Amino acid sequence: MTARMSGQEKTLLKTRLEQRRSELLASIRRQLLESDNQTFNDLAGSVHDSAEESVADLLADIGFADIGREVNEVRDIERALIRMATGVYGVCVDCEADIPFERLSAYPTAKRCRACQERYEASKERGMHPSL
Ligand SMILES: [Zn+2]
Repeated sequence: MTARMSGQEKTLLKTRLEQRRSELLASIRRQLLESDNQTFNDLAGSVHDSAEESVADLLADIGFADIGREVNEVRDIERALIRMATGVYGVCVDCEADIPFERLSAYPTAKRCRACQERYEASKERGMHPSL
């Protein structure tokens, strides 16, 4: 399976993902520092832009609920960057079709093509409201 995306497009998306990650980490760090909890304050010092360690995992471990959504987004971004590094970025995890650049441009962390995503969300929905 070869990705139809050009190297230039991939670089563009990578830059965007990394920028978003930096923004989120800065916001998380600020919230940790503003909290009254000493553990969170200490942790803020270790929140930095190293791509080598997963800050998201660290934060999820201590259960900092207020920034849960941002932590999840950082996680998605980290996973997308890993997929880029391993060459499977932009390939649908369900049907293995190439995800169009237009979709990746709107959702750089997309793991599925539009059709599979819709099917996935529909099945999730059914799971939440089981019909008899
Ligand atoms: Zn698909």
